[in-house]
Amino acid sequence: MGGILVIAEHRQGQLRPVSIEVIGAAVAAREAGGERVTVAVLGATPAAFVDALKLAGVDEIVTVRTQTDAFDPDTYQAVTHALIEARKPSLVLLPHTIDTLGYAAPLAVKGNYGFTTDAFGLARDGESWIATRSGYGQKVNMEIEFPGRASVVITVRPGAFKAPEGAGTPEVSEFDAPALTPRSHHESFEEPAASGDVDIAGADFIMSIGRGIGEETHVEQFRELASSLGATLGCSRPIADSGWLPKAHQVGQSGKTAANCKLYIAMGISGSVQHMAGMKHVENIIAVNTDPEASIFSIAKYGIVGDIFDIAEELRGHF
Ligand SMILES: Cc1cc2nc3c(=O)[nH]c(=O)nc-3n(C[C@H](O)[C@H](O)[C@H](O)COP(=O)(O)OP(=O)(O)OC[C@H]3O[C@@H](n4cnc5c(N)ncnc54)[C@H](O)[C@@H]3O)c2cc1C
Repeated sequence: MGGILVIAEHRQGQLRPVSIEVIGAAVAAREAGGERVTVAVLGATPAAFVDALKLAGVDEIVTVRTQTDAFDPDTYQAVTHALIEARKPSLVLLPHTIDTLGYAAPLAVKGNYGFTTDAFGLARDGESWIATRSGYGQKVNMEIEFPGRASVVITVRPGAFKAPEGAGTPEVSEFDAPALTPRSHHESFEEPAASGDVDIAGADFIMSIGRGIGEETHVEQFRELASSLGATLGCSRPIADSGWLPKAHQVGQSGKTAANCKLYIAMGISGSVQHMAGMKHVENIIAVNTDPEASIFSIAKYGIVGDIFDIAEELRGHF
């Protein structure tokens, strides 16, 4: 049968922006392969998301009624498996998110589908799909082939594909979820602990610190430096995970996006894909790192190969 199947994600009644990007990836792939794009949305009231999914290039929206709107890995795995078996898509695109970490791999194993994660490129080679992803700690780009697999499941890196432009008029259909008893249930959403008035998404100037600061006792001097520069203090995930700064300061895939930032200074941050997902769009990035090979330099407008403590000292002398 063929076709491209996208599973949309939503949270607290809102489609997640990455779902729209994955639809963009599917629409771009459709141009390469000419296959139909079907978007499935699961939930207690999946019809509520249909209008937002009527995007240019989408041929069909499939609503699947499940017990709850909250994400459940067993439910998503079972429904996606049932959809693949019913529709036989050649390509299944999922966002590379905390949700799909919970079900994409077992889905692929159970169905004997081709599988790769965190792809940022998709191409067609005859009847086969080829995905591009990083390897060896982001040192190389690898092209992944899936010989002999009728269906290929790929999780797509957030920020890698553009949303489709304009609206479309897809047909809308329903699909019955297979009967199952989930092993977990959603209790409630908890907002991160309040952290003063830090607003990473709204800040226009952010100075972020990473593991390069070495010790928790060094946080304070960078907090003071940020304050004297007029910058909002951000951080990479290890700093938040260690409890050195509250989670609200974290920039990146599982943190906040520096959505309105015009100037971003990265101090002692290597530039993982997950960190860059939250800041690589910023027009003016200044990176300070002792390692001239650090990935952060690949997106920095200005790079300083040097010690953050020396640079901090220099900056202090000027403000
Ligand atoms: C599902 C998932 C989600 C994630 N989400 C996020 C996220 O939202 N945000 C995030 O940041 N990470 C996230 N991560 C973690 C991410 O993969 C990296 O581990 C993390 O970004 C690395 O943080 P870092 O750059 O501070 O540390 P490191 O990678 O250890 O880099 C430290 C850098 O400091 C430099 N350095 C050391 N000393 C000095 C010095 N004195 N002066 C100058 N430079 C120095 C080093 O050369 C090095 O490049 C996520 C990971 C996963 C699996």
